[in-house]
Amino acid sequence: MGLDEDSLEYHASDPPGKIEISTTKPTNTQRDLSLAYSPGVAEPCRRIDSDPEDAFTYTAKGNLVGVVSNGSAVLGLGDIGAQASKPVMEGKGVLFKRFADIDVFDIELDQASAEDIVTSVAAMEPTFGGINLEDIKAPECFEIEERLREEMDIPVFHDDQHGTAIISGAALLNAAEIAGKDLSDLEVVFSGAGASAIATAKFYVSLGVQRENVTMCDSSGIITEDRDVNEFKSEFAQPGSGGDLADAMEGADVFVGLSVGGIVSEEMVQSMADDPIVFAMANPDPEIDYETAKNARDDTVIMATGRSDYPNQVNNVLGFPFIFRGALDVRATDINEEMKVACAEALADLAKQDVPDAVVKAYGDQPLQFGPDYIIPKPLDPRVLFEVAPTIAEAAVESGVARRDLDLEAYREELEA
Ligand code: NAP
Ligand code: MG
Repeated sequence: MGLDEDSLEYHASDPPGKIEISTTKPTNTQRDLSLAYSPGVAEPCRRIDSDPEDAFTYTAKGNLVGVVSNGSAVLGLGDIGAQASKPVMEGKGVLFKRFADIDVFDIELDQASAEDIVTSVAAMEPTFGGINLEDIKAPECFEIEERLREEMDIPVFHDDQHGTAIISGAALLNAAEIAGKDLSDLEVVFSGAGASAIATAKFYVSLGVQRENVTMCDSSGIITEDRDVNEFKSEFAQPGSGGDLADAMEGADVFVGLSVGGIVSEEMVQSMADDPIVFAMANPDPEIDYETAKNARDDTVIMATGRSDYPNQVNNVLGFPFIFRGALDVRATDINEEMKVACAEALADLAKQDVPDAVVKAYGDQPLQFGPDYIIPKPLDPRVLFEVAPTIAEAAVESGVARRDLDLEAYREELEA
């Protein structure tokens, strides 16, 4: 059977879907039930009424993330609406659970406007320890996240924006090191100016890339100051007369593709600077395929894609489970820039350490050693949990968004156990 048929069977086998709720306390006796519900439940309610922070002690809030979507930009499927996006959001819940033991309620909202979504999500604050916005289209996604981060006292994180930014940011740190270049000198060209590209460009600036060294192209070519574009694109508008992607790539050190497959040619890669960095991340087909880019030149092309069948897969699962794990465990009120940068640096560092045999085995015994073909850890590397989560927790405490402190050494050991 093919993948589609297998997937239908996977989802339809009894019980339908792939998640359920389970209880964590005894429910065997009359006594148990009167503790779980009325009349015993009244006392935790009274405690929380007098101190809302007690919700973290007496409810599941502190390990519960809302995965919220309106289905307007679903991976590879586009605007399929809220109901049809539910398998994806349930799947995100599966990944949160599998990688970081975080529970998820998936929330599919039949709403299109930023205003409506902001109102709905903000009203759900009592339920959750954090909100993962998912597959909401640009440019509304920018306003929605920005307003919710401001209004809510729990972290709000749009994974399609920042996941890609952070993971590819880790890859950029290591790729630049291997190419022997400073981030502040890199000429970086983006293909794409949507949710992931805008967030990634901003994040690269946080990591040390100069904003004026970023050239961004959308479907009409280079974004210049004289073009009439939305406020998010205009942040990266260049002076000058513009041109197309091929013009932009001439002499560039880095190409970042977050657009559509197949739009970069061998010649375009040949026109780049020495030892170019090519992150062609459109899914399922990259802007240029791995072999073509690698073979385009005699020097080293450091290549990453979104695909699992080539080296250096930029996969968001390297980020969100562990970022939320660390944020929840210090009851963070935000996932801020400091935490994102700390995450990218931790992932970049981890790629330089020896890879355990079990991980090498899981990836078909190919050698995994820091270098052009291994610049970020593999998604199934269990060390990511206990390297990244404590780093996030620490960055939250140091940047003043944690509601409680942790003994980081003990926390790390607890995660490792
Ligand atoms: P999005 O918000 O829809 O943005 C797509 C962008 O691509 C738009 O700015 C669009 O231009 C531009 N575009 C379309 N056709 C183009 C062309 N022929 N030349 C240049 N630019 C073109 O989508 P997104 O969520 O950012 O995702 C973009 C791509 O990145 C998708 O393929 C997605 O699968 C991939 N992605 C990969 C990862 C990963 O980890 N590997 C993560 C996130 C996204 P206009 O603005 O002019 O319409
Ligand atoms: Mg997504």
